[in-house]
Amino acid sequence: MSARSKKPFKACTKCKLLVLPEEERCPNCGSTTFTEEWNGIAIILDPDRSEVAKILGITKPGKYAIKIES
Ligand SMILES: [Zn+2]
Repeated sequence: MSARSKKPFKACTKCKLLVLPEEERCPNCGSTTFTEEWNGIAIILDPDRSEVAKILGITKPGKYAIKIES
C-alpha cells in the first residue's frame, strides 16, 4: 500500500496557487512551473483581512498550498 496518494491539484511553485493537473499556465502569476509536492490547503476569500494570506504573501483570493516541498 502506497502512503502517497495522487493529489487532485498541483501547486504553482511561484505563488502557491492550486490548479487542476491539466492546467498549463498559472492563472494567477503566469508561471508554468508546478509541483505535486505540496501540503495543506488554504482557501483565501478575502486576502486583505486574512492573517494566513499575509503570512503566505497571497494577494488574490483562491485556493493555495500552505507548504511546498522543494
Ligand atoms: Zn502562480
